[in-house]
Amino acid sequence: MKIAVLSRNPRLYSTRRLVEAAEQRGHEVRVIDFLRCYMDIIAHQPRIFYHGEELTGFNAIIPRIGASVTFYGAAVVRQFEMMGVFSVNESVAITRSRDKLRCLQLLARRGVGLPVTGFAHAPEDIKNLIRHVGSAPVVIKLLEGTQGVGVMLAETAKAAESVMEAFMGLKANIMVQEYIREARGMDIRCLVVGGKVIAAMRRQGREGEFRSNLHRGGSASLIRITPEERAIAARAARIIGLNVCGVDMLRSNHGPLVIEVNSSPGLEGIETASGKDVAGAIVEFIENKARPHRTRTRGKG
Ligand code: ADP
Repeated sequence: MKIAVLSRNPRLYSTRRLVEAAEQRGHEVRVIDFLRCYMDIIAHQPRIFYHGEELTGFNAIIPRIGASVTFYGAAVVRQFEMMGVFSVNESVAITRSRDKLRCLQLLARRGVGLPVTGFAHAPEDIKNLIRHVGSAPVVIKLLEGTQGVGVMLAETAKAAESVMEAFMGLKANIMVQEYIREARGMDIRCLVVGGKVIAAMRRQGREGEFRSNLHRGGSASLIRITPEERAIAARAARIIGLNVCGVDMLRSNHGPLVIEVNSSPGLEGIETASGKDVAGAIVEFIENKARPHRTRTRGKG
């Protein structure tokens, strides 16, 4: 098969591993910087160009779209979809997963356990909103933050109010969330491929840090997840519509709570901690599923 990895940097661990896994399995693979793709929006004849060359003949793409370039990245994925190329994750699902609130709303509608979460527009509603979420401390999150940036712990209701007021003043979209103290800076990342959890790791924030993100100095190790956690992760992936994703969960006193679904999960931490060939599993998924015009939403929406 001819596979394109849509990635800005061929030297990144995840990109390299995907290329290596595809080549090992006998595929032709190219890394394409999607920000350098440009498109013709012509009726019935969608096309993509890259450094002056028309991109044709691909059977599948693996999008690795960074959060800061979601808009353009999703447009490129959509264009491939309209050309009938199979995308490991559909453009619509990628966009969906990038908005934390939208994701939580979709999961809540289907009864997936989540930390109690509130969202408001008017500063006058902040006090009531915090009361709904519970007592301080509370977690405040920017809707489009990643890698733990924009996730804050407010120790008191007063502190929460002033932080939220400040962000609202800056026109930033934020949500406020129940703080799951018993997680003690630990979360579980489940890597889902084709509807199944194929690897899991536990991430522990460094001393004094409630965020467990590896980019914030957290450490990863192997964990045995429960059948319930496994089922919830697979279900969350299905609800958001992602074939490949990382589902993050906290272990709370009232069961596993999903906090995030990530459409471009890093492979280094999870492959190292779990010893699993995640890149190989993604390529295998393509081998089993890639057919022309398989995109369910056909790039709509
Ligand atoms: P990001 O997308 O920036 O990683 P997350 O929502 O995943 O943002 O939060 C970052 C980290 O903060 C999580 O991995 C988790 O360790 C911690 N965290 C997030 N929400 C809560 C919460 N409600 N209670 C306790 N810890 C939390």
